[in-house]
Amino acid sequence: MSTLLIPDARKSNLERPWRLFIDGQFEDGGGERSLFDPATGAPLCKVMEASSDQVERALQAARRAFDQGPWPRTSAQQRAQFLFRLADAIEARAEQLAFVETCNSGKPLREARFDVAESANCLRYFAGLITKPLGQTVDVPAPSVSQIVREPVGVVAQIVPWNYPLLTAVWKLAPALAAGNTCVLKPSEFTPLSVLMLAEIMQELELPAGTVNIVNGDGLMVGQPLAESALVDKISFTGSGKTGRAVTAAAIGSNLKKVTLELGGKSPMVVFDDVDVDLAVDWALYAIFVHAGQVCSAGSRFIVNERIYDRFVETFAARARKIKVGPGLDTDTQMGPLVSKQHLQKVLEYIEIGQQEGAALLCGGDRPRGTIYGDGYYVNPTLLAADKSSMRIVQEEIFGPVAVIEKFSSEDQAVALANATIYGLAAAVWTKDVTRAYRVVKAIKAGVVWINGYHSTYNECPFGGYKQSGWGRECGPWGLHPYTEVKQINLNLDPSPVGWFNADAAFNQ
Ligand code: NDP
Repeated sequence: MSTLLIPDARKSNLERPWRLFIDGQFEDGGGERSLFDPATGAPLCKVMEASSDQVERALQAARRAFDQGPWPRTSAQQRAQFLFRLADAIEARAEQLAFVETCNSGKPLREARFDVAESANCLRYFAGLITKPLGQTVDVPAPSVSQIVREPVGVVAQIVPWNYPLLTAVWKLAPALAAGNTCVLKPSEFTPLSVLMLAEIMQELELPAGTVNIVNGDGLMVGQPLAESALVDKISFTGSGKTGRAVTAAAIGSNLKKVTLELGGKSPMVVFDDVDVDLAVDWALYAIFVHAGQVCSAGSRFIVNERIYDRFVETFAARARKIKVGPGLDTDTQMGPLVSKQHLQKVLEYIEIGQQEGAALLCGGDRPRGTIYGDGYYVNPTLLAADKSSMRIVQEEIFGPVAVIEKFSSEDQAVALANATIYGLAAAVWTKDVTRAYRVVKAIKAGVVWINGYHSTYNECPFGGYKQSGWGRECGPWGLHPYTEVKQINLNLDPSPVGWFNADAAFNQ
């Protein structure tokens, strides 16, 4: 029996002013935007957006907080304590955060709950990491001692997309704060609510003013000025390759601020003929349909051995048709709607393009019908058969519940197909032959690979892509280091006349 959890009292919590967070205070914005419930298409609430002046004030606040404020001057242990408290406070409000995340992004409540729990875990991970040794001493010739230390970069701008609003923000804020930076974060114009709740919690926990600033608004009005500002020392961006290029160009054209990019993917799942087909299909459904395929590392290309291809397709299509599509707040829902009307149009267009290119529609391709769907942004789980890897549906990121399937006959062909896109974020290989599995994952150019699995990633491990899937990594020490500058400190324990005219003497000190 399904339960639709939309008690009016909880929903009315959304109807309050959602404001900007600048210099430790919430304030009204220069403009306002209406948000819509992806599950019904009905108005959800209004959110205020930053004017150019407010973006500038947020940047100035972060700059002041870095140059003169307490946060960069606290000990690693004090910063860790704050992050631990923040994790506890998130857990204490987990249900409210998950509810808001589901209402705003459309994702099923169980997925939103997972994101909230992972956000707390991520904060705890970086709280622990920052109190461990980050520096080094290097054995240089006496009488010098050389020490390598890591220091915060300064003011960091962080731009996040709409698919994991809270978790992507925390993936950036946790290492940045742990390292002692100050931040200006721009959530997606579509999904700012959970991040604003996070700001409320930070304010309650008395994070020093200006340490974190949240500026809502669209990419051109708010994101671009962050990328262009000379007050910013580093920018961390997650989103599409197109916007990533614009952000990088703005960084290069201004003060050459450091850039890290987490961009898109078109990740393959290669399935050999020795697998248990039912089990592989089970994971394939999870690989593509979790969060309705709006996951950068979604398994959106199945590359399947010709000997099991028909059975794989048949099993996949039969099971995909049974996936319960519905509102994220319905406890029975397995797959929710897409995030916005614009995105719905884009995904439907790709399904059309695929068929015009000659791809066979094996399941889905349409929208579910019925009163529970209202004007929500739903698309049924879809599989298209591609016979050429040059097809747009094979090459371009659709970012919806749409997978393509291709056939292979040899291992070399499977690897060639897997590598035949501009992306290199993630990949999976399914086989019982461990030697082959290892050979194939080594040959695939991707930053995250799974053998007989999909999607699991850990706060302790690096996440990011090869090729045009990005620059740098998030999580683990790899996610912390880009929020630091590395400094070489040399101490001469016994200075004697330098003798610069005598090269040998000078070089030995
Ligand atoms: P976009 O690139 O459109 O937007 C990402 C963010 O950038 C948004 O906050 C957006 O603002 C902002 N933005 C837009 N234009 C500019 C600009 N000129 N300057 C600065 N910022 C700007 O991506 P989507 O939000 O559509 O997200 C989907 C994309 O993100 C997919 O391609 C997906 O693969 C990728 N992604 C990658 C991940 C990874 O870790 N590799 C994780 C998650 C998503 P606004 O939307 O408010 O206008």
